[in-house]
Formats: sequence, C-alpha cells, structure tokens
Amino acid sequence: MANFDLMRELARDEGGKIVLLVLDGLGGLPMGDYTQTTLEYANTPNMDRLAAEGTQGLSHPIARGITPGSGPAHLALFGYDPIARPVGRGILSALGIGFDLHYGDVAARGNFCTVDENGLITDRRAGRISTELALPLVEKLNNIQVDGIQTFVRSEKEYRFMLALRGEGLDGAIEDTDPQITGESPLPVKAATQGSERTADLLRAWVEKAQLALRGEYPANSFILRGFAQDPKLPKFDELYKLKAACVAVYPMYKGVSKLVGMDVLETGGDFTPEQEFQVVAGHWNDYDFFFVHIKPTDSRGEDGNFEAKAAVIEQVDRALPTLLGLNPDVLVITGDHSTPARLRNHSWHPVPTLIWAPATHLPDLTDHFGERQGQRGGLGQFPANELMPLAMAHALRLEKYGA
Ligand code: ZN
Repeated sequence: MANFDLMRELARDEGGKIVLLVLDGLGGLPMGDYTQTTLEYANTPNMDRLAAEGTQGLSHPIARGITPGSGPAHLALFGYDPIARPVGRGILSALGIGFDLHYGDVAARGNFCTVDENGLITDRRAGRISTELALPLVEKLNNIQVDGIQTFVRSEKEYRFMLALRGEGLDGAIEDTDPQITGESPLPVKAATQGSERTADLLRAWVEKAQLALRGEYPANSFILRGFAQDPKLPKFDELYKLKAACVAVYPMYKGVSKLVGMDVLETGGDFTPEQEFQVVAGHWNDYDFFFVHIKPTDSRGEDGNFEAKAAVIEQVDRALPTLLGLNPDVLVITGDHSTPARLRNHSWHPVPTLIWAPATHLPDLTDHFGERQGQRGGLGQFPANELMPLAMAHALRLEKYGA
C-alpha cells in the first residue's frame, strides 16, 4: 500500500473490528513422505470452516522471489512498503532484543571480531564466541563514557551486539565500519552526509575507547559496526487508518515493530500459548479497533526442520480459535509473515496462505480447506502483502468511496 495519502483520505473513524492473526513462517512445502504442506497436513477444522465461508489466496511479503526477514515482512502486513521505507538493521537489532529505543536514538549492529598485531581482521566473527564469553566484553563496552551522549551496548547473541547512541540532534547516516572481508582493518567511522558529521565525531570517540577496552582480549579483540539507523518515522496506525490498534505478541521484535507503527503493546507472559494470547485480546476487546496477534512457534519449528511439530502448533492455534471467534470480529485475517518450510529449515520466498473471513462482506470462494494449493485457487488470488490492510479496512467498512 504505497499510497498513504489515499488511506488518509478514505479511512473512516468508525467501522468494524479487525483481527490480524499472524502465524510466523506459516507457509511451507511438502517434505519427504509428506505430500502435503504442513498447513495442508495439519488438522484444522476451524480454519477450514473459515476458508469455506471466507476467501483465501496467497500473499507475497516483499516481492516475488524475495525471502524476507520477519521485520520487513511484518511491515508489509501492516501496509507499508519495506523497500521504499526500510527499517535499518540497527533498529531491528534493538527491537529484537527488546531494547527501550527512544525516538532519535541511533542504533547499529555490532560484531566482535579478531584482529592480528597489525590490526587486520583475521576472523569477522571472533570464532563465533558464545554469548557467555561475549557478555563480560559487552559489559566493558557498555561502561564506556563519551561526553555529550549516552551509549548503550547490549548482547544480541554469540558474537553479535547492539550499540545505541542517545542524545540531542543525532543523525543515523553513518557508514558501516565493516569492510566485509578479512585481511583489512575495521573501517574508520565516516559520516554518510554532512548532517551526520557531529554524530560521527561522537561515535569516533566511543570507538577509540572501545578498541582500547578490548585490547588484550582474545579472540574478541576488536569489533565492526553496521546498519546504523534511526526510527524510520513511519506514519502511525491512528493517523493512517484511523485505527486504535493493539499488539499481542510474545517475542520482543514483534512488539517493537508494532510500536514503530503506533500500536499499543498489551501485556503477555514469555511462555503464553495461543489460547492465552487470544484471552488477552478478549480482555481488551472493547478498547481497540484492531488487534495484531502474533504466534511465533510455527516459524521456530519450521527452522528446526520439524514438520510434525510445526503442524502441531498450527493445530494448537486452530483449537484456540473459538476464543477469538466468540468475540465476533467483523474481519478476521489469518496469514503468515513469510513461509518457513521445514524442508528448508529457513525462511523462504514462497507466497503465504492468507485467509479473509468477514461474514458481512466477503464473497465465499470455492475452496474449503486452508492451505497453499487451495490458496492458489482462492478468490484473493496472489497479491502483495501490503494490500492486505486496505482489504481488511474495506471489509470492516472503514473506507469511504474514492471520488464521486
Ligand atoms: Zn517471521
């Protein structure tokens, strides 16, 4: 949905309630003796009924053939164009670890690396040191003080960390210090624009102290930084769609991405089941027009390569669906942010099964089982994921007509 102005012009401030239920990495492939995809194979009587009553299709998260990360894929589901309005890697890193990013902060992704006596990189990942070994080094870097700004260093995982700078008038247009190859030194800090010269100066002061702090360590005796970024200043849900929106998610990254688009993040426990997440929706049903509900384990089990376990998660969601349906949403969208076929143990570019159920407005198609092959024959056809929000808005009778 590239045309924000059109949404702003047409969105009404009343209409039906929308639930966007995202099973992370939902799409899949047949695998070994399984001739069906995971979703086709899973026993999902509720989703199948919704498919029979509603309309399904296949959505392309970013573009055909492109395998997305979960961050950009969710922005597409929320109606944004993640290529035109990219969210920098540093911001995604900060959101991914649940760092309390403030507006205007500059964040970057860091890698510990190994350098030789001449300062040349011999290993860009410092032997992939464990999180446990990295933590005391992260602590050292976190304690560095630079006049004029606050700095924060947090462990992400293994050799990866996040660096955030906080202060007045910072500018994230800073070039990577990662030369991308071994045999070279980490690159000096460089401003990408004139406006970021001051930020680059402050960062240089930090880098100098940080290099000193790691001297004598091994194998993590240096570091490289990339993906410097600031809040992408995306238009917010209330302004763009006139929706009061809430997020129900367990993992920090999804809460963070939801915050970027102006959703309220509702309280959940770290081990919440789909049923418990749906109960959170029920508890706030009267407070919001739009609920984004995120289910993570479909993606995790896909990445484990565990076909049966991924199917079991889908079945668990299906069993809990009556809790959501009992709230009588006007529009229920069930989809994924991307495919994660157990066969590939990874995200993939395959289009994602997507179902719209809106009893007052949808035209039922001829499919009666939620899944990839049925989606190929469904009434929604194949479409870019960022068209989903305008569709959901239309089915909730929240869009005025365009022109007289
Ligand atoms: Zn994902």
